[in-house]
Amino acid sequence: MLELVDLTHRYGTYHAIDRINLTVKQGEVVCVVGPSGCGKSTLLRSIAGLIKPTGGRVLLDGRPVESTPDNLAVVFQDYSRSLYPWLSALANVSLPLRRRGLDRKARDEAAMAALTEVGLGTAAAKFPWEMSGGMQQRVSIARALAYRPKLLLMDEPFGSVDAQTREELEDLVLRVCAHHGMTILLITHDVDESVYVGDRVVVLSKAPGTVTGDLTVDLPGPRDQIRTRELDAFVKLRADVGRMVRGMTNNNHHEVEHR
Ligand code: ADP
Ligand code: MG
Repeated sequence: MLELVDLTHRYGTYHAIDRINLTVKQGEVVCVVGPSGCGKSTLLRSIAGLIKPTGGRVLLDGRPVESTPDNLAVVFQDYSRSLYPWLSALANVSLPLRRRGLDRKARDEAAMAALTEVGLGTAAAKFPWEMSGGMQQRVSIARALAYRPKLLLMDEPFGSVDAQTREELEDLVLRVCAHHGMTILLITHDVDESVYVGDRVVVLSKAPGTVTGDLTVDLPGPRDQIRTRELDAFVKLRADVGRMVRGMTNNNHHEVEHR
């Protein structure tokens, strides 16, 4: 469904990403992991049509992405700039549903259901400035889930929440997306998270970011925060990805599958 061909971007003379090639299939959960500053957000903004890459192509369902596609939702790293401060949580979530052609009542119902799903059913009337960072990020996630996009892009979505909330939100996103058949591209610098969440982990090199590894995560589902993380296969994959992110050669190639 998503195809990146030699995707390259330079900010002026600064080379941020270099010839990224990646194909994502419908229903896949792909985690992109790489060191900070390697161009992960640049990659995401290119896919979302928010910046025009200086080289290569982004194809969604075979069509080039020129502006923000209709069937796509994005959860940004910086929640403080992604919500409208003058709107309540409910209004923030329901607003984009206008694009879905729903009437006011249907929008508010869908928004309320999504807020309840992320544990904010009783905070629907609150404004962003009345909520903690973690709560604001939950609102951003609820907004994306309510929209029911075909492709959900997430840029370090759990980076600023506490560890327990992070685990809850990882599971919530996996559950809701599986239920609605969404495809996810999740960007993270957290090796553990990439293996826990992904069906596949794509590793980017340090800047300019390019794909240095593409691993299939063959762990049984549904994932479980305790049981999955104690599996030998999980521990081994985490070590493999960790080495790749650090640019160390991987001596054990049997799990590595370059596509
Ligand atoms: P990551 O998300 O992996 O941390 P980014 O994609 O945000 O990386 O940034 C990659 C590099 O590009 C960084 O060195 C950053 O300073 C630079 N960069 C990002 N956005 C801009 C911009 N709008 N103009 C100039 N340089 C930028
Ligand atoms: Mg970033």
